[in-house]
Amino acid sequence: MRYSDLSKYSYTKLQSKASLLNVGWVDRDVPFLKGSIPAQAIARIESAIPLHLNAMRGVHGCPFCGDRDIYTDIDGKRTLLGMSEIWIPSTVSETVYIAPSLLLHYIRDHQYMPPREVVDALLALPCDPARWNTPGGSYSKLVKRYG
Ligand SMILES: [Zn+2]
Repeated sequence: MRYSDLSKYSYTKLQSKASLLNVGWVDRDVPFLKGSIPAQAIARIESAIPLHLNAMRGVHGCPFCGDRDIYTDIDGKRTLLGMSEIWIPSTVSETVYIAPSLLLHYIRDHQYMPPREVVDALLALPCDPARWNTPGGSYSKLVKRYG
């Protein structure tokens, strides 16, 4: 499943007052920006994965690794990626960035570089995902309804 970064999210039927924007829905046939992002931003992504938001029925493998299942270590726990989403709320507007949980693997192993505004949103978030929200509360409503 491939969507352009910052396009409107449409993969599942989430309803929200916030703008839901795609990030990290990459695939093999379209090149993407490569680079590295601060460790703190990666740590925020890691902390969102155990929430298993909008969990899917199937598991998506990594298209760059021959579609095999991707496991990663989060806090010493072996975790399967590709079966849920990561939701990243903006702290300055009613925007939630929605990525596949494989985002972590794309960043770590394929040097995928999210758009600057997404990195900034990650860096603005507190450590504890229970305290994440958009200014108007759309993120927590989304989690309550679909998480
Ligand atoms: Zn891979």
